Amino acid sequence: SASLFTAIEMAPRDPILGITEGFNADQNPNKTNLGVGVYYDDNGKLPLLECVRKAEAELMAKLSPRGYLPIDGLAAYDKAVQELVFGADSAVVKEKRAVTVQAIGGTGALKLGADFLKRFSNDNAQVWISDPSWENHRALFESAGFTVNNYPYYDAATRGVNFVGMMEALNNMASGSIVVLHACCHNPTGADLNHDQWTQVIEVVLKRGLIPFLDMAYQGFADGITEDGEVVRRFAQAGGPLFVSNSFSKSFSLYGERVGALSIVAASTEEASRVLSQLKRVVRTNYSNPPIHGGQVVATVLASPELRKLWEEELAGMRVRIREMRQLLVKKLKEQAPAQDFDFVTKQRGMFSYSGLTKPQVERLRDEFSIYAVDTGRICVAALNTKNIDAVVAAIAKVL
Ligand code: PLP
Repeated sequence: SASLFTAIEMAPRDPILGITEGFNADQNPNKTNLGVGVYYDDNGKLPLLECVRKAEAELMAKLSPRGYLPIDGLAAYDKAVQELVFGADSAVVKEKRAVTVQAIGGTGALKLGADFLKRFSNDNAQVWISDPSWENHRALFESAGFTVNNYPYYDAATRGVNFVGMMEALNNMASGSIVVLHACCHNPTGADLNHDQWTQVIEVVLKRGLIPFLDMAYQGFADGITEDGEVVRRFAQAGGPLFVSNSFSKSFSLYGERVGALSIVAASTEEASRVLSQLKRVVRTNYSNPPIHGGQVVATVLASPELRKLWEEELAGMRVRIREMRQLLVKKLKEQAPAQDFDFVTKQRGMFSYSGLTKPQVERLRDEFSIYAVDTGRICVAALNTKNIDAVVAAIAKVL
C-alpha cells in the first residue's frame, strides 16, 4: 500500500555539487576542478589561515564550557561584524540603528532575511535577483514563500553589466519590491557595478521605495576589505531600510564552520530594537541559537590588533593570487589562442570568471581533458595555480 513516501519524486541534483561528484569519480591523475566555489592556494589546497590557527590555539588554551549562545549570537561577534560591514564610526552603528545577528553562514543570513521579509513586507511584495545570480538565491527566497523575478544583469556581448536594462527594471518595480544585490565580486559573472552605477542604483532604490538586500559573500576579494564594503556604507548612509547578509566562509576560509551574519538598518534606535526582537523570533523558531566555535574564532581575530593585521595580510594574499592567475590566464591564452580576446578576464572581480566557454566546450574540457567547469562557462579562478594553469590553457586553446 502507498505510504507517505511512495509518490515522492527525486529532487534535481545540485548542478555544482554534481560537478564535484563527477570530478571525484574521475580516475585521471591530472584532473582539475574549476567548478568549485572555494579558494585554493597555489598548491591546490584549501588553506587554513594562520590567523585562524592562532585564534584557535588561544581558544584551546582557555577552554570554556559550551552553554547556549544568545539567540542573536555572540555579542562580541555581532559587534565586530557591524564594525567591519558598516565601519566603526558610521552613523548607523553609533546611533544604534543597525542590528546584527550571527547566522549559519551567508546562506543562513539570507534565509533569516527572507523569512523576516516574508512576515513583515507587503503581502504582494516580490523578490528580484540578478540574471544570472548565485543559484541558491532563487531557491532560498522561493522557499520562504516569495515569487522571485530576474532583473537584467549580465551582458554577454560586452561581458559586463547590462546597466541600462538593470536600471529600466529597477525603475519599473513596484514600491516595496525586494532587490537582491551582490555587494562585490558578483557570483557567477565576476562583473561588478562601478561607483557611478552604484550611485544611480542607490538613487532609484530610494526614489521608488525598494528594499535593498545586499549579499556580501566576498568582502576583501575585489579591492580590499574597506573598499569592498563601501557599497554597504553608501546604502546605509543614504537612508531607508537595508538588509545585509555577509559571510566569512571565503574571507576566513572557514567554509565548514558556517559563520555569517544578517544586519538590518532601521530608521531609529527604537525601530531597530523592535526589528531585532522579531528577528530573534525568526532565529528561535528555526534553530534556536547559533553554534559557538566559528563566531568565536572570527570575533577573536577581529578584536585582536595583531591577529586582525595578520588576517588582512592573508586575505590580501588570496586576493592578489587570484588577480595574478587572471593575468597569467590571459597572457598564456594570448600565446596559445591569439584569435580570441580574453582581456575581460582581468577586469572581472572575485573568485569567478564567466569565461565565455560554451556548454559544448565545457563538455569537451571535461570529457577529453578531465577539466571540470560549470556548464554556463563559469570557472573558479581561485582553483587555478602555477602547476595546473598550463594544462588548462592548452586544453582551452584546443576546445575553442
Ligand atoms: N551568497 C553568494 C553570492 C555566494 O556566492 C555564497 C557562497 O557561495 C553565499 C552567499 C553563501 O555563503 P555561505 O557559504 O557562507 O553560506
